[in-house]
Amino acid sequence: MNCIFCKIANGEIPAKKIYEDDRVLAFYDIAPQAPIHILIIPKKHFATLLEIGEEDSQLIGHIFLVANKIAKELKIDESGFRIVVNCNRDGGQTVFHLHFHLLAGRPMHWPPG
Ligand code: 5GP
Ligand code: ZN
Repeated sequence: MNCIFCKIANGEIPAKKIYEDDRVLAFYDIAPQAPIHILIIPKKHFATLLEIGEEDSQLIGHIFLVANKIAKELKIDESGFRIVVNCNRDGGQTVFHLHFHLLAGRPMHWPPG
């Protein structure tokens, strides 16, 4: 499968990693939209959020715990951050391997663009 994030997860393409375990990888976005912009991905390939099933509930919960851990490590927990999942065309998804954007370091706009 020609998936850029699978290739990052298996080491074929380099990335600036900030966290890794057996199920999850987090790395810095190549085109940051905020002073801190990290992508958290499951190593398991899901093209979109729509592909997750009941059996993936623990994995998805684990991703949020990883986000918390990173936020505390980077000391953006108190100032705050935003987690975004873009899904399909209107969501603005461009890479079809499920990923969670962790954005911080500036006030985020609401409503989002
Ligand atoms: P999406 O638009 O699908 O929600 O987000 C995809 C994100 O992946 C974008 O923010 C984009 O900058 C990032 N991205 C795309 N290709 C690469 C890459 O090769 N390395 C890294 N680190 N980020 C990438
Ligand atoms: Zn993939």
